This record gives sequence, C-alpha cells and structure tokens, in this order.
Amino acid sequence: MRRRVKRTPRRRSRHLGDPRDQSTVGETAGKPQKLAALVANGAGEIIELDGYAAVGADGEVLEALHTGNTKPLPHGSELMLLPERQPILFDIAAGRTVCLSAHPDYPGVAIYPVAAFNSPGYILTHTCAHAAPSSAAELPLFAYGAVGWQADGFRSAVARVDHEPRQDLRRMPMTRVRGGVRRLRRQLPTNRLCRHLEKCALTYGCPAAKNFFIGRYEAPLPTAEGCNARCRGCLSLQEGGAIPHSQDRIRFTPSPVEIAEIAHLHIARVDKAVVSFGQGCEGDPLLAAAVIGPGIREIRRRTAAGTINMNTNGSLPRTLEGLLDAGLDSIRVSINSFQPACYTAYFQPRNYRFEDVLESVAMALGRGVHVAINYLNCPGFSDTPAEREALLAFLERHPIQMIQWRNLNFDPLRYCHLMKAAAPRLGRPEGMRRLLHRVRQAAPHLRFGYFNPPKESFPESPTKPLSARDGQGP
Ligand code: SF4
Repeated sequence: MRRRVKRTPRRRSRHLGDPRDQSTVGETAGKPQKLAALVANGAGEIIELDGYAAVGADGEVLEALHTGNTKPLPHGSELMLLPERQPILFDIAAGRTVCLSAHPDYPGVAIYPVAAFNSPGYILTHTCAHAAPSSAAELPLFAYGAVGWQADGFRSAVARVDHEPRQDLRRMPMTRVRGGVRRLRRQLPTNRLCRHLEKCALTYGCPAAKNFFIGRYEAPLPTAEGCNARCRGCLSLQEGGAIPHSQDRIRFTPSPVEIAEIAHLHIARVDKAVVSFGQGCEGDPLLAAAVIGPGIREIRRRTAAGTINMNTNGSLPRTLEGLLDAGLDSIRVSINSFQPACYTAYFQPRNYRFEDVLESVAMALGRGVHVAINYLNCPGFSDTPAEREALLAFLERHPIQMIQWRNLNFDPLRYCHLMKAAAPRLGRPEGMRRLLHRVRQAAPHLRFGYFNPPKESFPESPTKPLSARDGQGP
C-alpha cells in the first residue's frame, strides 16, 4: 500500500444521482440508485469517474453497487488505493463492466482501485472489484471492501453484525487514553504487560488496548511469543517479509502476577468486564499455558467477577482443558473454513490438525463453556455452497453459542485463488447476506456478533444441536 487517503472525492462532473444518469442506467425514481465509481490517481487523490458506476466483487461474480446493497461508510472506516492493480467498473454508456488501466479521459494517466477498510461490527458483502497482474506485490493485511459514491457521501458494501459501540473511535478519545496511560504508569510502575499495552494503544491504535486504559468493555492480555500455525494473514508474524506484519509480536512472557494485575484492575473498575488472552500482537495463547493457567487462578483468587476469555486457534485440546480447569469462562476459536483442506491451506498448522480444533470445541461445549467461532470471512469463498454446507454441518454437530463474523484481512483475489486450489468444487458464491440468512434460519438461537460477550449475557442453558431443533420456529 503506498498511500491511505481519506479525502472527499474531487468532483469533475455530474454524478450518478443526477436524473440523466439514472435514466441512462435504466433506473426510475424510488428504486435503488447506482453508486458512482471511485478511483485513485497517482497522487493518492480519490476521484469520481464520470460515466462509470461502482462494482463490487463476490469472488468472480461482479455486481453493481447501489443504495439498496450498500450502507453509508461506517464512521472510522478508511479508504485505500490498491497499487499495481486496475479497477473494474461499470461503463454506463456501453452497458457492461470494464477493467481500466488508465484514465479514460487522459490516456496514459494511471488510475487505481479504491477499497474501504470498514470499522468493526460490519462484515463485507463485496470486495473491491479489481484485476491484479501476477507480478503485483502482495497487499498489506487489510480487508478490501467495495465502496462507491452517492449524493449523501461514500457508501460501503457491508452488512452490520454488531451494534455495540465497543470499538467506536468516537467513544475512545486519545486525550482520555493518554490520561489513562499516565495514571497506570503510576499505579503499575513495574508491570511489563502494562508497558506493552501502552505501545498497542498509543502506537498501533489498538481499540482493545485503548479500552483498557479508558476503562471500558474488554481488556487484552497478550502473553504468547510463539504459535503452532502459520496463518497466511497473521498480523504479528510474516515469514519471508513479502507481506508487512501490522503489529510487532510480544517479545516477553508476562508473569502470572503481571497478568492478574492487569485483569483484576480492569475487572474491578468496569461493569460486565471481559479480559481476553489471544490478541493480534501475540502468537497463540495455548502455547503460553504455563503462565496463563497460574494467571487465571490468581485472577480468580482476587475476584469472581468479570469474564475471562481466550481467543485461540483451539489446536491443543488437552492444554485447553487445563485452562478451563483453571477458570476460563469462554473461548473464541478462529476458523477461516469448515472444510479441512481450506483450513489447512490458510492456517498451515504445525503439529496439529483441523480435527484437533473440532475436539477442542466439542470438549469445551461438553463442559458447558461459552464457545464462539471467530469466523474469518471473505465474499467469494465464505458464501459458496460448499463452505455454507460445511458450516451448517459443523453447527449441527457443535451447538456453539455464537458466531463472530469477521472480515479476513488478506488479499481477496489471492485468498479465493488459494481456497479454490484447496477445494476446486466450491460452487458459485450466493452472497454474504444470503449466507447470513441461511445460517439464521438453520440456527435461530445462535448469537451473531463481532465482540466477545460478558458472561452476564451468556445463554442460561446450552444451545441445542440443530438436529434437535427440527420443526421449531425461530
Ligand atoms: S493462529 Fe494467530 S498467532 Fe498463530 S499464525 Fe494464526 S493469526 Fe498468527
């Protein structure tokens, strides 16, 4: 990524909200209006391209963006240009999609696709439609959502999956964050984990770390230096250096007391507090069980309040069992696919198999622990019939309490290519909204969301398997 820009488009000419344009694209008043296409020039400025409408990609399925299948760009989202790539747009006069390598009015002037990196709580329904030559450099680790322009501003191809303002930047002013950092430097002067979280909050802008210093919702407890997976989109470790990692991985192992000090402080001052092992700046916490187990026991020695959660790859069922014994309240297991070949192609597990992940989920459910799946989605793969059926089959056998629908931060073209190579018969994508609807129909009690819930909101009784719900209404 060369530049990330957030600029109002430079309006060269009339836009698609004009009546003439609406008639050109065959729309009438009251119907959804197509969005104007956005591209970036070499200076990183975002411009509206006269005569072209915005297009979103659902894998190989291209769809015009309009006011009916988009939402106003969520607050805090960012716009990005995709270097070395060409935008795919809808040529209104020609009535077809086209791929442009240069500005149509200024031959030789390069233009680039524009994508949206959307705020937490929103899942992509379409990725930015573009073409990439095989020589193009790897894209940094973001989710590249489709975006366009309409009379009222930028619009994004997303569906909202969580309404909680947990990571709304408007609720996390940096003045309060910096004030919290100063206070906790005085309160926990020797706690290395607290110093680490300062960098997360102040340098990386990590919303979870900011919330810790402000005293809201969920606090992060990074601990693990190592991991037994090699996820293609790992944010904290990229071997080979072709893709920049976005956060430095923690380089020390906090002591159980350091962990407990952070967790207890957060729980003591936040109503319905959550503290979570397993963050973007670490490996997998199961590999740090030797300190996490005693850390959990020390937290619980100090307080019975608060939810102790672990975000994990779920690779080591026996290790996880020991941590549940210590007092974990909930787990969130990251999975990109319920097809073993696709899981393996993305996670590249070392010394474990997808079946071990399933065993962890089943074991935790058997013990009555709240289990969420961190379902890493990408339109064009997640909404294929093969992946949908694999997900529903999983839900039937594993009555988890929640799916956290998350956007996969990875180049969408390369990801779909990778998944197709792993599982050639995926079928034609059916749309992310349709997928959400199908899952909702099949599992009406399954909670959808984005954030780890506090134990006060856990369901009272275990969720029933899908097969036991046959014939029940929503
Ligand atoms: S499981 Fe997490 S820490 Fe491990 S490689 Fe994957 S993303 Fe990175």
